[in-house]
Amino acid sequence: MKIMFLGLPGSGKGTYSSRIGHLLGIPHISTGDIFRDAVKQGSALGNKVSEYMKRGELVPDEITIEVLRNRLAQPDCKKGFILDGYPRTISQAEALDKIVKLDIVFNLSIPENVLVRKLSARRVCKNCGEIYNVVEIKETINGVKYYMPPMLPKVLWVCDKCGGELIQRKDDTAEVIEARLKVYEEQTKPLIEYYKRRGLLEDVFVSSGPEIMVPAIMAKLKRLEAR
Ligand code: AMP
Repeated sequence: MKIMFLGLPGSGKGTYSSRIGHLLGIPHISTGDIFRDAVKQGSALGNKVSEYMKRGELVPDEITIEVLRNRLAQPDCKKGFILDGYPRTISQAEALDKIVKLDIVFNLSIPENVLVRKLSARRVCKNCGEIYNVVEIKETINGVKYYMPPMLPKVLWVCDKCGGELIQRKDDTAEVIEARLKVYEEQTKPLIEYYKRRGLLEDVFVSSGPEIMVPAIMAKLKRLEAR
């Protein structure tokens, strides 16, 4: 299965891709994680991308497309993969089309005020990137009930998976979140139409936490596989 998650920053792409990748035994590929690792290691790639990331802007397409092309050429991608945060522009999608054909694109939708709160409450493991959430979101918007439970580590600020330190991402601050939402609106949103036209888009309305949403997405995948 070649799967992609599309959605606003904070809509849950990282959490769902990681859990579903684990369940299906295929790699979860996040260009954001690849860039963050490069910055942490101080590599040439890291030096090229860090300023864009700090400002919440997109890394130029030529750099991003090359990184993705190299990652998809790895042997673990032969069985399939889940893309999280790529593509983010039409030209990245066109480049991807030339490399491989996707089976499905999940478009996660969530109200903006819910995701701003989710992003400010997000904590990630500095070491393995596991995602946690330190608030409980419980409200009704336009008649729809939203309930997202907190996802807390067993020990405060320590990752359950690897024991790494939990931190707030540098681009999860109010100012940078605003810039990232603007970038999504202008450059990434047109991808919804792009994949709809190709018959690949499947809308997912995010109103609960991953314990409810992940099985719902898995059921959609099973139905697709059976077709
Ligand atoms: P993410 O973890 O997906 O929210 O990505 C964090 C940051 O990495 C983004 O705000 C961009 O600066 C950069 N980035 C990640 N993926 C891409 C992409 N496909 N195209 C351009 N920039 C990206």
